[in-house]
Amino acid sequence: KLVSKKWKVKPTSIDLGDNIFIKDGEMAIITGPCSIESEEQIRKVVDHCVKNGVKMMRGGVFKPRSSPYAFRGLGLEGLKLWHDVASEAGIKIVTEVMQTSQIEEMYPYVDVYQVGARNSQNFNLLDELGKVDKAVMIKRGISGTIEELLQSAEYVFSGGNEKLILCERGIRTYEKASRNTLDLNAIPILKAKSHLPVIVDPSHGIGIRAYVPQMALAGVMSGADGIIYESHEIPEKAYSDGQQTLDFAQSERLISWIRESFAMR
Ligand code: PEP
Ligand code: MN
Repeated sequence: KLVSKKWKVKPTSIDLGDNIFIKDGEMAIITGPCSIESEEQIRKVVDHCVKNGVKMMRGGVFKPRSSPYAFRGLGLEGLKLWHDVASEAGIKIVTEVMQTSQIEEMYPYVDVYQVGARNSQNFNLLDELGKVDKAVMIKRGISGTIEELLQSAEYVFSGGNEKLILCERGIRTYEKASRNTLDLNAIPILKAKSHLPVIVDPSHGIGIRAYVPQMALAGVMSGADGIIYESHEIPEKAYSDGQQTLDFAQSERLISWIRESFAMR
């Protein structure tokens, strides 16, 4: 496989411009709300990122909700608004693309296309993202194996797009005490098998706000190249995933813990 270390030994470095990288040997921190909700909310999260030296912000404008009655996102208009505010502050945008028709319209406003867990094996979407010259982060499928994640990455890479990031976000197991089971085993295994950077999402991985920090740090120590987690000014009022979202004080503490842990790794 092209994404395999057997084919390419040197770790792949993702250059997002303005000296911002997702790569082996660095610790990318990506934070932001589950859903982009309003201009005011965007500004608050951007300020939080700037204050803490975080260069990449996450947020959904097209939301894959388990219920059709739940908030589905602000759509392209929300992304444009977000891009206006974020680019001015030098912050890169990581956001989910749900279908092929969105790739082109999102293109001017996105820095990393996120493929969500539910679309992890949407092979049409992966094929089309293989033709784009922008970074793509593929999340592991809800019940996806490590091998299936690598195969999904292979779709994009073999299409010609080598700006790829893998993301462990927890898998569905028999355990119901947590939203998902964050598979920390996957990090050293993915790092050994592939030259692509690996990011951990402890928010979706455990789904419980109070335990997100320790799972984030476990992700750092397991060898990840970055952490992506959800934050919001008032998590209780978030339109989605509030139960697993950190407030800014919690987020600020986590950012310094991530950096300290990474320095000790
Ligand atoms: C998200 O990042 O908000 C999200 C929907 O993640 P996942 O696809 O991992 O469930
Ligand atoms: Mn979410």
